Amino acid sequence: MCGIVGYIGKENASKILIDLTRSLEYRGYDSAGIAIYDSKENKFLIKKTTGTIDRIKQEILNEIDGTTGISHTRWATHGKINEKNAHPQISSNSKILIVHNGIVENYQEIKNNLIKSGYNFTSETDSEIIANLIEFNLAESEIKDALEKTMDSITGSSSIVGISKDSPNDIFLIKKGNSGGLVISENKSGEKIICSDPTIITKFSDSYRYLVDNEIAIISKHKNNFIRENKEPNKRVVNIKTNTILEDNETYQYKMEEEIFYQKKSIKRIIDDKNDLIINKLNESNIKFENIQRVLVIGMGSSFNAGLLGSYYFESISSLKSETINASEFIDSKRIIDSNDLVIGVTQSGETAETIKALEYAKSKGAKTISVTEKNISQASIISDTNVNIGCGPEYAVASTKTFTATALTLYIISVYLSRDNENKKNLENNLLGLDSKIESLLLDTKDTKEIAKILSSKEHILYLGRGIMYPIAMEGALKMKEICYIHSEGYAAGEMKHGVNALIGDNMPSIVLCPPDETYPKMISTINEIQARNGEVIGLIDKDDDNTNKLLSNYLTIESHNFFIDPILYVIQLQLISLYSSLRLKINPDRPRNLAKTVTVE
Ligand code: GLU
Repeated sequence: MCGIVGYIGKENASKILIDLTRSLEYRGYDSAGIAIYDSKENKFLIKKTTGTIDRIKQEILNEIDGTTGISHTRWATHGKINEKNAHPQISSNSKILIVHNGIVENYQEIKNNLIKSGYNFTSETDSEIIANLIEFNLAESEIKDALEKTMDSITGSSSIVGISKDSPNDIFLIKKGNSGGLVISENKSGEKIICSDPTIITKFSDSYRYLVDNEIAIISKHKNNFIRENKEPNKRVVNIKTNTILEDNETYQYKMEEEIFYQKKSIKRIIDDKNDLIINKLNESNIKFENIQRVLVIGMGSSFNAGLLGSYYFESISSLKSETINASEFIDSKRIIDSNDLVIGVTQSGETAETIKALEYAKSKGAKTISVTEKNISQASIISDTNVNIGCGPEYAVASTKTFTATALTLYIISVYLSRDNENKKNLENNLLGLDSKIESLLLDTKDTKEIAKILSSKEHILYLGRGIMYPIAMEGALKMKEICYIHSEGYAAGEMKHGVNALIGDNMPSIVLCPPDETYPKMISTINEIQARNGEVIGLIDKDDDNTNKLLSNYLTIESHNFFIDPILYVIQLQLISLYSSLRLKINPDRPRNLAKTVTVE
């Protein structure tokens, strides 16, 4: 899940590498490191730190002005968070330096063999074996053969960027499987930047070459030498267009706050630009939608929860069988997939390792595939038949907010597109009209939401309960609370309470009950009563015109209903705000929760 940068040019490499590495911190931020080649002294300056790259910024800028280097921000998979385990990892005889994104699954076996051959290991990482194995292979071959042998020996998915001390002005790249993006970019002044995420280098670069599985390249100032090249996909050289973020005059302390409040704009943008963003993409697709008999949605985390909502839409609006499956279970659950299936991979980054793998698997079974992402180009878009952009602009806070609602609305619009009932299509415009104003009014007054956050932030456990269309929202609300408040929270189907969970009801386990004015209403009232009968505290999210439920509850928030299918978006925004304000009360930085990263590129 790490972020990788490499630079070959004429400017001060450390400055560029540090700035870009900082922009990749959404991929992991537990430790960082940098290596710059000092051509005057013919040696590398290597600095590592726990925490973020800014901790070594001044040291490195004061010490060196080299023009070639690599850097890394880590999300540890193997080995504790300390300087030794931070990247770059260096081979025993210091000939090879590498930064790595991914997991070497057979690292222990390779490590044992290298130890027998006299290699020393100083870190606990799987990545260190890569540096040592390249160095070992180099004893008998040239660098290009050594890289090929190394790629063939390691298993799992890895993106590797490194430098051999024998040719310190060159950078090599290995891309095995799908472990986060890796792009080589160039600009007209002859600078080259290698980066995990092309969208953060659009200011520097004029052309991009996206690496795909099973590619190896050595990049020097004047040429890019592909030692192994996958010539097949023609989407690899791309112009990177990013979604512009519309201006907001407010200032926000945290990105997450900004992103929650931005939803009035992002939702409006999807409503206004649905043709460009979604419908034209589907029209241009080579998928024969009339042949689709089932829609499988795959995703992880918030994308999975948005997918659950998607399946609700596909079944009730498109009249297609649908199921949402956690991407990490998609292959292992041995589902029967065939060419009548449409598999929609939901991943805001377009890089989620399990979702990419599941999409590839679905393709291999003949299914048609759509990726729903925030990026115009990503691993997911490269491997899918069609990519649909959710149009809300990049999200920086680790916990998803505007990408969740943008995904939910996008899936809703796709479900209308797939519907065989023309009435649904005719009503689309009307059904969306005014949604953004409802969001705006909801965000205008947050006083009561802050009061609820005051109550919840002192709790150790919280239940989120919903039925039907609100069940995915209960799941998402609980996820936000876990992510940014570290409070144990569970999203449950309200009906499930009687089958075990009621045993947990007590003083320290409040329940948040989602109680919209729909067909689930009478049963939700029973749920509230059943919890209260057992002395459980209930906080409700209820409709603005509901004059009955408020009498049952001492604490509740009201929501102005828009329409049945869209109301989950309004309810989830309240839950996002509750988590945000609870997090602030707990003095947690909601943008950078512990142990997490935004883009999850390892399985
Ligand atoms: N496996 C490597 C490590 O633990 C890289 C981790 C990653 O890409 O997230 O250092």
